[in-house]
Amino acid sequence: MFIVSEAEVRRAVAEALAVWDHRNNPCSGVELRLAEGTTDNEVVEDGVSSLSFREERWSRNGRAEVLARYPANMLALTSLYAKPRPGQPMVAEIGEADIELNAVDFRFSTDGRVSQSVSRTRDLQTVLIHEIGHILGLGHNCAMTERERRFVDNQGHRLPLCSAAGSALRSAAMFPVESLATAPILRDLSPDDRKVLCALYPVRASARKR
Ligand SMILES: [Zn+2]
Repeated sequence: MFIVSEAEVRRAVAEALAVWDHRNNPCSGVELRLAEGTTDNEVVEDGVSSLSFREERWSRNGRAEVLARYPANMLALTSLYAKPRPGQPMVAEIGEADIELNAVDFRFSTDGRVSQSVSRTRDLQTVLIHEIGHILGLGHNCAMTERERRFVDNQGHRLPLCSAAGSALRSAAMFPVESLATAPILRDLSPDDRKVLCALYPVRASARKR
């Protein structure tokens, strides 16, 4: 059962966008806005970035096929649509992102109430801040599996395992919330999140683009 109103969802989205916006991060040129109205578009490349709550089936576009299903312990999934930048094949530009939230196995709250119990209520804004980080192209700050340890950070260091991560990593927006058994409330960026944001979207480069 979905217990948050549309107005509350819109407020949580707007606040989560503001956390990443340049007004709160003067070193970055990122501007993020929530469009008016709603759309019934699917997770498909259509030029519209969307947020959908899956309430009946936790699967891609809520479809019934086995192949479309997502793991039950996964809280959210963001599908990115990126294209290589012309003349720079190693650089991709993200043109669209569609977020799906698992409202089958979890509930989402906006009043700061979370729970680890059966109802598994998660803070909507915390989850959105993390997913918006993915939309901006940020990855997780730790490896969820041994396999993922082959990834390196921007300084060439291998990622630590999430299970061994210390408090600085755990209090960052890009600590993987998708499959966390706990329910943290993190409504701001950590110094590390902000550093990555500003490295990816420095204020001068974006000012030049306009
Ligand atoms: Zn994630």
